[in-house]
Amino acid sequence: MTLSQRAQTQVPARKKLSVGEVSKVSRPQLGPEMPVALFRVVRLIAMEDLLGRSAGSMLYNAGEKIGLTLDVKTPGDLVNLVEALKIGKVDVVEATATRIIVDVYECVTCSGMERVGHAICHFEAGLVAGALQKITGASVFVKETRCIGGLGDETCRMEAAIQPRAN
Ligand SMILES: [Zn+2]
Repeated sequence: MTLSQRAQTQVPARKKLSVGEVSKVSRPQLGPEMPVALFRVVRLIAMEDLLGRSAGSMLYNAGEKIGLTLDVKTPGDLVNLVEALKIGKVDVVEATATRIIVDVYECVTCSGMERVGHAICHFEAGLVAGALQKITGASVFVKETRCIGGLGDETCRMEAAIQPRAN
């Protein structure tokens, strides 16, 4: 097929992939896992480079959208999922109707890195926000107030402000 013929063939609309679809992995020899460093190259170098100064908010938004699609019904489900996906080890510091604070140990994005100077786990913060919105039906904003690789802290701390929606 020539290039011009190829250009004329009908290209199907670009399909949006779901978490379920991309989670199907067939790697009989290598298995379903990969080095954390490879994830960080994509997450902290390629994406930050591509998105520039707005990387933080865009990654937060991307995480939030994905969080809204997760199959979670309780905060406990979210903790289990974060640990099952090896995003990090979660310790719930505080949980009330309007505020949830969790510490994430061994964060996949930043644990072990030298201090960057600012919190860097925007995607993870957004993911927690989206998942908590789905669970609570409220409006949720998550701020990362401590960050292992970003700020030199012992854990990445996610503080979620939960605001019930009017009616
Ligand atoms: Zn962090």
